[in-house]
Amino acid sequence: MLKGTAASDGIGIGRVMLIKEHSLEYTPKTVTDTEAELNRFRDAVAAFCDNTAKQAENLRQTAGEKEAEILEGHIQMIDDPYMKGEIEKLISDGKCAETSLEQICDMFIAMFSATEDELTIQRAADLRDIKTGILSILLGIKEVQISSAPKGTVLVANELTPSMTAGINKENIVGIITETGGETSHSAILARALEIPAVLSVIGAATTLSEGDQVIVDGSDGVVITAPDKEQLEHYGKKREAFLTERRELESYRGKKTVCASGEEYELFCNIGKPDDALKATEADGEGVGLFRTEFLFMDRTSLPTENEQFEAYKKAALILKGKPLIIRTLDIGGDKAIPYLGLEEEENPFMGFRAIRYCLKNRELFKAQIKAILRASVFGDIRIMFPLVTTIDEFRAGKALVEEAKSELKATGDRFDENIKVGVMMETSSAAVIADILAKEADFFSIGTNDLTGYTMACDRGNSNVSYLYSPLQPSVLRLIKYIIESAVKNNKPVGMCGEAAANPMMIPLLISFGLTEFSVSAPSVLKVRKNISRWTKKCADDVAARVMSMSSVEEITDYLKTII
Ligand code: PEP
Ligand code: MG
Repeated sequence: MLKGTAASDGIGIGRVMLIKEHSLEYTPKTVTDTEAELNRFRDAVAAFCDNTAKQAENLRQTAGEKEAEILEGHIQMIDDPYMKGEIEKLISDGKCAETSLEQICDMFIAMFSATEDELTIQRAADLRDIKTGILSILLGIKEVQISSAPKGTVLVANELTPSMTAGINKENIVGIITETGGETSHSAILARALEIPAVLSVIGAATTLSEGDQVIVDGSDGVVITAPDKEQLEHYGKKREAFLTERRELESYRGKKTVCASGEEYELFCNIGKPDDALKATEADGEGVGLFRTEFLFMDRTSLPTENEQFEAYKKAALILKGKPLIIRTLDIGGDKAIPYLGLEEEENPFMGFRAIRYCLKNRELFKAQIKAILRASVFGDIRIMFPLVTTIDEFRAGKALVEEAKSELKATGDRFDENIKVGVMMETSSAAVIADILAKEADFFSIGTNDLTGYTMACDRGNSNVSYLYSPLQPSVLRLIKYIIESAVKNNKPVGMCGEAAANPMMIPLLISFGLTEFSVSAPSVLKVRKNISRWTKKCADDVAARVMSMSSVEEITDYLKTII
């Protein structure tokens, strides 16, 4: 079994077709007839643009507008007068077209790759693709014809470039395996758009696998089964059928509003951890982002991200969402989320300790830099701020005061921001839940974090298997708190969402509808499932279920009953 990144859901069973990279070696020459060489270069660019436009059109039919635009971007890049001009200057100086193209492309590739911005790094990959395409034309090399791959083909390549992907006939290609590329690379985006299971970053795939080998590509779990036996083929065959049946059914909910059977409308958002995940949220048909866990911007590095780096990240997510809501949670470190370079002291009870808003209020400059970055990004979309781990009204007020301070400083420096930015509370401690009536008067919105709320209420660590039997949001105590939080928000005319895992739990949905939740925020793959589950309930039926559940006294009784009705 080979492991990689799960980049496009589903199961593909088929035979390997290896996409080998051709050697693009040539002997650099000095040219005397520079006019003829310039024409040779221009003809090659014209042929490249022509091919690319055709591939883009093909992609528009098979994958969609957004995917076609990726390829059309290649035409724009090579048509850029500056880049083309620089290449032509070298040719006019007597260098051959191949050398001139390569030198200038390599210079830009090095420049783009040196940044930390993922979009710019992606442009380097695009430019590599363009360079290969034009060099192949200049050298008269024919690319592998992916379009003529037989039925049941699993493509295996080092990297699947957008131009290769454009030739894919989705009736014939059942899986994609590459050695490079992450979840948000163009290969991944295109594979998802074409609904072809894909596992990327499988180290050694192109050398381990041989032409014609039978493999199973599990794009949901990110594994590749090599030389499967009869049992594995049977198991994955069934998994594939179940996946396809569910996908067909769920697809009918795409592009629809999130409504329950009696017509009440809900917002259905996604939880994200990186700016690029906003793309997955929109691809999944999420109506916005209900929780951006910003601590991921602070992890996996050795120093704090600057205000500007954070601004770029929040702006990027806002631009991807094109005006859809983006709730940014301020730094939630401590507990299980360690950031070594902050040098936090070891604590006996880290979950009860110096974390999240408690840490931020004591480290005002760090907190203010984040808030300023969020405020500055707020002109690029519908951004809202949310504070984690609030336990008292004073913490919330102190956080809001810091937002006001940041606003004044930004005004003084002439920076623009949304004056009316909404500031909400993540309801994830029992204390916040019990004073929901007080918090609801001053907060602009609530979002219930059931992951922590359950742990704090049940005094139970989810990671500890000895007490995990207690950890359930369907515990009567947790349900009472959730109900009280929602009712307090509703009474004060404030929106109330849920961004903990419980929001996607089918047993929870009728209860949340009955209590009056207005927004669900779930992981991207759960969006259509939750929309379907919500559509099954009328308010009246949900109220009946909730009334029965709230009269029950134990989690066993509640879950046994709810299992019978979902
Ligand atoms: C929660 O506590 O429910 C939540 C969504 O936040 P996190 O899982 O990041 O603590
Ligand atoms: Mg939490």
